[in-house]
Amino acid sequence: MDSVVARMDLKQQIGQLVQFTSSGNIDEMIDIARSGMMGSILNDVDPEHVNRLQKAALESPSGIPILISRDVIHGYKTIFPIPLGQAATFDTALVRQGSEISAIEATADGIRWTFSPMIDIARDPRWGRIAEGYGEDPYLTSVMGAAAIRGYQGDGNLNKPTAIAACAKHFVGYGAATSGRDYNSTYIPLNQLHNVYLVPFEAAAKAGVQTYMSSFNDNDGVPSTGNKYILDDVLRGMWNFDGFVVSDWNSVGEMITHGFCADPKDAAYKAITAGLDMDMVSNCYLNELENLVKDGKIPASLITERCKNVVRVKYRLGLFDNPYIVTKQDVKYAPEHLAAAQKTAEESAVLIKNANNTLPLAANAKRILVTGPMADAPHDQLGTWVFDGDKEHTITPLKALQDNGNYQITYVPGLNYSRDNKTDGIAKAVAAAKNSDVILFVGGEESILSGEAHCLANLNLQGTQSQLLEALKKTGKPVVAVIMAGRPLTIRRDIDNCDAMIYMFHPGTMGGPALVNILSGKVNPSGKLPVTFPVSVGQVPVYYGKSMTGRPASGTEILLDAIPAEAGQTSLGCRSYHLDDGFYPLLPFGYGLSYTTFKYSDLTISGTSFSKGDVIKVSCKVANTGSVDGATVVQLYVRDLVGSIVRPVLELKDFRRVEIPAGKTVDVTFDLPVSRLEFFGLDNKFVLEPGKFKLWLAQDSNLKGALEGDFEVK
Ligand code: BGC
Repeated sequence: MDSVVARMDLKQQIGQLVQFTSSGNIDEMIDIARSGMMGSILNDVDPEHVNRLQKAALESPSGIPILISRDVIHGYKTIFPIPLGQAATFDTALVRQGSEISAIEATADGIRWTFSPMIDIARDPRWGRIAEGYGEDPYLTSVMGAAAIRGYQGDGNLNKPTAIAACAKHFVGYGAATSGRDYNSTYIPLNQLHNVYLVPFEAAAKAGVQTYMSSFNDNDGVPSTGNKYILDDVLRGMWNFDGFVVSDWNSVGEMITHGFCADPKDAAYKAITAGLDMDMVSNCYLNELENLVKDGKIPASLITERCKNVVRVKYRLGLFDNPYIVTKQDVKYAPEHLAAAQKTAEESAVLIKNANNTLPLAANAKRILVTGPMADAPHDQLGTWVFDGDKEHTITPLKALQDNGNYQITYVPGLNYSRDNKTDGIAKAVAAAKNSDVILFVGGEESILSGEAHCLANLNLQGTQSQLLEALKKTGKPVVAVIMAGRPLTIRRDIDNCDAMIYMFHPGTMGGPALVNILSGKVNPSGKLPVTFPVSVGQVPVYYGKSMTGRPASGTEILLDAIPAEAGQTSLGCRSYHLDDGFYPLLPFGYGLSYTTFKYSDLTISGTSFSKGDVIKVSCKVANTGSVDGATVVQLYVRDLVGSIVRPVLELKDFRRVEIPAGKTVDVTFDLPVSRLEFFGLDNKFVLEPGKFKLWLAQDSNLKGALEGDFEVK
């Protein structure tokens, strides 16, 4: 590899650092490829074009193949649940398999690099891109991101023609956008950066991710694309990363708009010296790097180093041996891919409420009124970031119920789409309810309401959906509400207006059959929330791993309506809560019901005191105390009682999804390395601080019914 790069002249080396987007004119693109100035291209997925581009690149002076790339985010043709839904499965094997399938399908069109996984910690559901990540928690996001990377990258066999390079994005802090507005500035202090936002990115490095993408945001004034601390000191210095870093779309050029760079030359200079290898579409590298070398502003050796980073990944992908497409076309929508997407959708569904065991549907609940704007929305249930999946392959809840054959279905949509403000359909739906045994309302958000640049200041159900639900509830018939959305919504009122609720983060191609299996009881729901649901937007950001304040709420605080007139200044106590919405969120992280119940008992911890290098064995018994088989997610939380900086109230350190037959008990054991208790401390280093810890094995972050233990670190 070194000798190949050494033979390339400066211009050819710069060519490897340039990424184009397809202009739509393939002849023009082929000319650029033949000139050797196209290191990578995104957004041409015509297999014939891809092969022609590769041929032209091989004929270029350097003869280096092109890295063909695309945003394959939660499936290529077969669309899996959005990543937030995948996180709700707490099933890393499924997530790994989903990414492997995405890679297989994508390579059929020549794609060898995806801009996924997104491992931004997101604690603000206003931010539309919360849909694309794995939620609020650093540990959950780390293991999910690592699983996705392994799936895309062929479990370490990157040179398999059906493997693709993954990209850990957006590096870093992008999810902390002020007020949940996309592209907004972030203000993340160093401790929080290392203890929260960088955690999944380090896990990605350990999982062997080949590329990173620098994020759009500036953190405390420094845009990531020009941030040497993160791109160089942390990524290459602390983590020994030897792949390459690509900018986000035009984020090199946008450093000028930020007011951080004067012109394209300055932008190229700041990016290349900070540690950015490849420029996505801004052309600053294409037009300015040669001048920067000629002017003596940067050494030619810096270009060589960056070029090597890119070419190394191309070698690892086996592109030099296999530049052309070998994957067959018929892998797209293969039956086993659809089956995996369905299983993921089933495991991602979170049962929020199930009053009077409304679900699974009783044997005599045959006549179903299906209503609501997402009941038959084949485009919208796919979710955000779907460029290649065709809605013709989507199976909606309505279609799946009709195909099932066991039910008599009446379909009255009530509303045509999620933002529909009309009220005339409500009466029609209510009238149709009279002749039904149960009402199935499927609402939520259209796919366009979440994802990049799709942020909201208001998180109630859009349009007149809540009104429709309220009217349906008044009919007295049992109401099952299914919410398909890209984010947590503020659904307190809607939970009251139904008997059972299932939350499905946009579930993808097979969402319909997955839902029907849950309604019928063929599948027992086991999804858990990967993110806290707020009561109201005013509570945001609200997440379980908060720091302990000096005046924490106890839960018995006086709320707005109970305050007497002319109450004295200090009569409410001085605690950390909101007078109107209190302290607690609507639904905690890790929450999700089942058709059965579980009891945890017999906690054992393999000692009382541990040192660096030890592994703590934590175990318990978990009984399925109900009458149907089911799966629970045992969640291991710790609290570091005293730290040199204030520590989170709770931290998830491990979890295990276990399937348990009805009436049976299983043993669950965790190996918790003491090193997992380290944190980035006051003196800007990772430390393991001696002291006391509490530990819980719990069904959710509310710790209701959890087993509690203690240990010490010496
Ligand atoms: C997004 C990235 C994406 C890139 C390429 C940007 O706007 O922020 O996540 O990978 O476009 O499409």
